[in-house]
Amino acid sequence: MYVILLGLPGAGKGTQAANLAETTGLSHITTGELFRDHIYRRGTELGRKAKPYYEAGKLVPDELTIGMLRERIAGPDCALGCLFDGFPRTLEQAEALDEALAERGAAVDRVVYIKVAEEELVRRLAGRWNCRQCGAVYHEASSPPQRPGVCDRCGGELYQREDDKPEVVRQRLEVNLRELGKLLDYYEGRVVEVDGQQDIDGVGREILAVISPS
Ligand SMILES: [Zn+2]
Repeated sequence: MYVILLGLPGAGKGTQAANLAETTGLSHITTGELFRDHIYRRGTELGRKAKPYYEAGKLVPDELTIGMLRERIAGPDCALGCLFDGFPRTLEQAEALDEALAERGAAVDRVVYIKVAEEELVRRLAGRWNCRQCGAVYHEASSPPQRPGVCDRCGGELYQREDDKPEVVRQRLEVNLRELGKLLDYYEGRVVEVDGQQDIDGVGREILAVISPS
């Protein structure tokens, strides 16, 4: 069983994939984990080539990512299948994944789109405030300080990082939305939409119902 979780940043893919991996026994695969394994833990040839991109925060070329992925899905812990979280990110990656699975006589079984309205994502992603003095992190919605703009712990001033400002978050989402749109088109007919605006357990139950063999 090969399952892809799609969604915009903040939709909860990582959390859901980790929980699902536990309940289903499928391996949870993220590109971040693949990169760290190849670059730092094992120091492979693929890792050596990926390192400069990874460390500069740039997109690692598809051929390297795909190479790592191909090795990963052949591993014994993927015998039951796996959950892809944050991958594929582009159309090229989606095509390469289909090819890699076809080589193994397999295919993507389910594509789950965790849908969350853009405004809700802005609220989730843009609500973070940091303390200038002690580094404590607050969130407007889920963990607000007792007094706006003031740290509960040390009384320091709270500020928003550039990345956490609503207009910057909105721009980032727009870019992601364009890529996501292409992927949803590519997987048309294979995508099941799940309501990502319920609580975490509710989303998890809905995904589980979608991926459980009927
Ligand atoms: Zn503080």
